[in-house]
Amino acid sequence: MSIYKIGVLYGGGIGPEIVGSSVNVLKETTRKFMREIEFEFLEFPMGWASIKAYNDPLPDITKKGLEKIHGWLMGPHDSSSYPDEHRISNRNPSGELRHYFDLYSNIRPSRNFPGTKSLVGKADFIILRENSEGFLSDRNMYKGVGECMVTPEIALVTGVFTRKAIERISHEAFKLAMARRKKVTIVHKANVIKYAFELFRDVCYEVGEKNYPEVEINDFHIDAMTAHLVRRAQDFDVIVTENLFGDILSDLVGELVGSLGLSPSLNTNGTQAMAQATHGSAPDIAGQNIANPTSMLLSTVMLLKWLSTKHKERKLDGIANMIEHAVFRIVAEGTTTRDLGGSASTSEFIEAVINNLKEIE
Ligand code: ATP
Ligand code: MG
Repeated sequence: MSIYKIGVLYGGGIGPEIVGSSVNVLKETTRKFMREIEFEFLEFPMGWASIKAYNDPLPDITKKGLEKIHGWLMGPHDSSSYPDEHRISNRNPSGELRHYFDLYSNIRPSRNFPGTKSLVGKADFIILRENSEGFLSDRNMYKGVGECMVTPEIALVTGVFTRKAIERISHEAFKLAMARRKKVTIVHKANVIKYAFELFRDVCYEVGEKNYPEVEINDFHIDAMTAHLVRRAQDFDVIVTENLFGDILSDLVGELVGSLGLSPSLNTNGTQAMAQATHGSAPDIAGQNIANPTSMLLSTVMLLKWLSTKHKERKLDGIANMIEHAVFRIVAEGTTTRDLGGSASTSEFIEAVINNLKEIE
């Protein structure tokens, strides 16, 4: 019997519904099919609930606790609704955890879902978002230069780009591409923001040409890239870009292939991993049992596959594949939530996933 400790951070908005859904599916999968694996779920405070209990949106017990476990499920949350004293210091638990653990690599896959209406042709690509610096860097924020008001009428925002961080995310991009269709697209804005993006673009090319000669490389400005994605999504394989551009592009492609509610992601530094839906806390639909839990479920699948490779535990891959197949099957057969035009509630969708779990031959 192998025991895996999985952290659970519910967050706000639809967080408790979609994270809770993933926990239920994991429990049911092991109970029904994989008794040799046990998941031990450990809840950690984060966000609003944690402000109420600890006067802190991300207390030390959470950070220290996460150091000792195998991986965790991170719910979405909305830090802009925090009380002033927590907001002013730019406390964003997700950004803080990425910074604290240096989870520099955010892997965000997108592909068509049979049975859903896609706005583009065939799509199967990964957006690799550099998580540790660029224009959304918590590292800058901590130095106090990330964003500030120069006067009450003038705001200043800066970004940081370092060779070291670009090199490591480039290696990730090319490694991912080597296991796929061997194409990497670099997205930047070197024509306007010269120093930062010439460095980003040139270091990516350098890493690729020197170490991964089999991989085909091209690059686009961020504005042109949005047009290319809409026009010819099928041509892209791995897309590597900086923090803010990666955030924006992922919402675009999430909707292009069907719904934001289908978009998973994994944040990792090679040693630790945090599963997290690409979207936010969706306060407009929170607490109504109508959110699409697929994004969180497929993020959980990504975490299981990552753990499987790390711990050489094929059974984790087996669980991941069972869940992934069940999700694709029920969506293809027409059980969908409201964002995809269906009428299933979050809990009905999850029940259908559990009923469709089958051993993969
Ligand atoms: P953040 O800054 O935290 O990323 P955001 O402003 O990008 O937040 P989201 O919370 O991602 O906004 O929501 C954008 C839209 O997508 C909302 O209308 C929301 O209801 C919808 N949405 C997001 N996630 C889901 C989901 N899992 N199921 C259904 N609809 C969703
Ligand atoms: Mg967003």
